[in-house]
Amino acid sequence: MWKARVFTLYPEIYPGPLNKGLYGKALEKKIWNLEVINIRDSAGDKHKTVDDKPFGGGSGMLLKPDVLGKSIDANIKKDEKIFYLTPKGINFNQKKAKQFSKEKVINLICGHFEGVDERILNTRNIEQLSIGDYVLSGGESASFVVIDTVLRLLPGVLGNNNSKDDESFEHDLLEYPQYTKPQIWEKKSVPEVLLSGNHSKIKDWRLSQSKDITRRQRPDMWKKFLEKEKK
Ligand code: SAH
Repeated sequence: MWKARVFTLYPEIYPGPLNKGLYGKALEKKIWNLEVINIRDSAGDKHKTVDDKPFGGGSGMLLKPDVLGKSIDANIKKDEKIFYLTPKGINFNQKKAKQFSKEKVINLICGHFEGVDERILNTRNIEQLSIGDYVLSGGESASFVVIDTVLRLLPGVLGNNNSKDDESFEHDLLEYPQYTKPQIWEKKSVPEVLLSGNHSKIKDWRLSQSKDITRRQRPDMWKKFLEKEKK
């Protein structure tokens, strides 16, 4: 069973979107599991203080290392991967999601306010992970993104296992356009080739569409694709 353990100040918002549809069923079937840790439970004083002002000045508050350290030490076993969600982290992507899907457990720490005391990162061997070049108010929505992306890669979660091979990012190409019924909608028909029943023609058409859209929307990916083709 694959497991995500999330450290947060807002445990009540989980499992949120992760409990819907096929993910909810997979949770029931114990294909995956979610453990939510309230960081505040590890606060030592009677006010349950979790944050304080940064030394050296500056706006905002930082999560205290003693509180976070206690929370981590009480809940994480040795050798488990730990990630702090932060815009300063290395980029999360489909390749990372695949790696994560092969771990038994991943730990995700959601920051708040200005972030966390830097010392926690080295002392607990924590990697920094970002979901993109923008700043969220907290790590929770980032944790949903990471877990969602991993869950659909776990065997038995999505109905059709083949469906993942064609997807965007799989071969450094974005996915081709797709169509369903009605065949004619608002006077627009679906591309003729898709009705032909000729599977090799359909495959060729889809590949050329994938190339087109990648070239137009993602020059960075297109460059990578061309370099791989050359090899
Ligand atoms: N002061 C920090 C930003 C803090 S944002 C800086 O400039 O780098 C508050 C919290 O939101 C962070 O602790 C982090 O957990 C989360 N967060 C914000 N943007 C994120 C992103 N792009 N990816 C992952 N987590 C993010």
